[in-house]
Amino acid sequence: MKQMKGVVITGKNTLAVSDSCPLPEEICPTGALIRPLIWSPCTSDAHLCATGCASLPYLLGKAVGHEMCGVITQVGSDVHDFKPGDRVIVCAVMPVWRSLEAQDGHSKNRQDNMYAGKDYPDRGGSFVEEYYIRDADMNLALIPEGVTLEQAVMVPDMMCTAFEGVRQLDTEFGASVAVLGIGPVGLMAVRAAVLHGAGKVFAIGSRQVCFDVAKAYGATHLVDYHNEDYIDQIIEANGGPVDGVVLCGGSEKELSKGLKMLKNGGTLVNLSAYFSGMPIEIDPAVWGFGYGDKTIKGVGCGGGRLWMSRMAQLIACGRVEPEKMITHRFHGMERIPEAMDLFLNHDRSLIKPVIYND
Ligand code: ZN
Repeated sequence: MKQMKGVVITGKNTLAVSDSCPLPEEICPTGALIRPLIWSPCTSDAHLCATGCASLPYLLGKAVGHEMCGVITQVGSDVHDFKPGDRVIVCAVMPVWRSLEAQDGHSKNRQDNMYAGKDYPDRGGSFVEEYYIRDADMNLALIPEGVTLEQAVMVPDMMCTAFEGVRQLDTEFGASVAVLGIGPVGLMAVRAAVLHGAGKVFAIGSRQVCFDVAKAYGATHLVDYHNEDYIDQIIEANGGPVDGVVLCGGSEKELSKGLKMLKNGGTLVNLSAYFSGMPIEIDPAVWGFGYGDKTIKGVGCGGGRLWMSRMAQLIACGRVEPEKMITHRFHGMERIPEAMDLFLNHDRSLIKPVIYND
């Protein structure tokens, strides 16, 4: 096993650059090695760090990170569509494409964890010098001409998650959509809803920096959740409860709030992760006492080359400008812990940081 540099979680709220992240001597026939050109830390990386990897204990001491673009340095003998030198978007989730679940249209139900994987349990995350993945033909996407690195690194999780959520919301033309929580995934959900033909789009948050981007993405109403009656305000402005809700953050209690602003017969897509172990309670009144015909979908990041390529096309064609969300830029792996501190310190100027590997 070769050793390389990577950013590892060493305990609660502590990160360090380590020299001893493992890299396999040989890659599998469908595999590839990618040298990162840009990284972006995510709220979920920060959560792992804040808890000392409570939800993924095997990751403690291993490299963190799952949003990265880079250049291919090596491919296995069975990789047909990519070659060394290609600049690629690296998947944030790694479905097992040769599985019955994938044939059944539910590739997300059978994934290798990005940080481990049956083929290579030592993998860790992608904040490393060189990242190894399997099934490169299915899990990488070329960065199109004219798309910058910092645009491309918003694809694997921010766009692939938010657009998957809105795809599953299945908005009708002119329908009203409320996005509850406008961090970077919520902001991408605002844009996705607009592109999907929504009419009124309510962006619910609290920070001006996020409201500004939500407005640029086409939100029609900016709503501060610190106003006690913000749900009533939305219902009034919409002329009734909204057709669809996308939940992008907050605690277990937000689900009832999302359902409260949703019409009977509407759909709520949840993109939040709930790791606290607390039960998720639903106030029966907001669910029509069980008869509201309200659908709740729990949705995760959409993976795979096709989905990532489509997201990249949205950028290449000028329909999505994800770089508007980037508030902090760093250079060099050594700066990754500093970028992560922005999350850990709840910096109110932060939407999304990127770190160039130069
Ligand atoms: Zn992420």
